[in-house]
Amino acid sequence: MIHINNLQKTYGETAVLKDVNVTIAEGEVVSIIGPSGAGKSTLLRCINLLEVPTAGELTVDQKPVHYRANRKGKLTMMSQYRLQWLRTRVGMVFQQFNLWPHKTVLQNVIEGPTVIHRLPKAEAVRKAEELLDKVGLLHKAGEYPGNLSGGQQQRVAIARALAMEPKVMLFDEPTSALDPELVNEVLELMVRLAKEGMTMIVVTHEMNFARNISDRVLFMEQGQITRQGPPDELFGNPDARMAQFMRSLSH
Ligand code: ATP
Ligand code: MG
Repeated sequence: MIHINNLQKTYGETAVLKDVNVTIAEGEVVSIIGPSGAGKSTLLRCINLLEVPTAGELTVDQKPVHYRANRKGKLTMMSQYRLQWLRTRVGMVFQQFNLWPHKTVLQNVIEGPTVIHRLPKAEAVRKAEELLDKVGLLHKAGEYPGNLSGGQQQRVAIARALAMEPKVMLFDEPTSALDPELVNEVLELMVRLAKEGMTMIVVTHEMNFARNISDRVLFMEQGQITRQGPPDELFGNPDARMAQFMRSLSH
């Protein structure tokens, strides 16, 4: 589903991603763990071109993703056209939910399908209601995001991403901005998606999710994937750096 070959990202002199290579298969659930500043968010943001990689090859859903930056580091017009293709295949959920505050929950969810997929409104609404039901929030369809709890907002953000019918979902620490008692409702939804076969890449500090739900775990540090494997293998046999990272989490 996703091939990343020799991916690099530098800001000025600083190499934030150094030669990242990874392949994600269809239906695979991959967790990315690692210390702060390792480049986890940057890697996710490069996959959907929220950041323009400095070098490397990226293939999504069998198609090479061409990106070209202008001198300001922004995508060129030609690349913008491809961006639309990419964004309809790759859904992203952030730590901060990024819902549109002046739109209702329902309006948030139908925005992408009506504007980008040009779905007739009635059909978009029908689909949005189905998704809101799935995330347990159909009764909040007419509310504004500000009136929802963090966990509810994050579930709306997930429904909004799913409404585009993406091939892969990227999650960047989706539960770390939440009060502890709200974490589980979001994790449970993610577990459900994983079990339904959604291809997912999840940057997370939730080690239970990484251990029990993912097919594979990537450990990143200093811009590289330094270890990867099935969770049992990785957690069962941590190297010194990973052991140190795991200890840092429990403080
Ligand atoms: P965290 O766990 O804290 O979220 P992370 O692994 O997601 O960390 P990134 O956000 O990808 O790390 O950042 C990796 C490095 O890149 C950091 O040292 C950060 O300061 C640097 N960086 C990120 N974005 C920029 C930018 N726009 N300009 C310069 N440096 C940046
Ligand atoms: Mg991050």
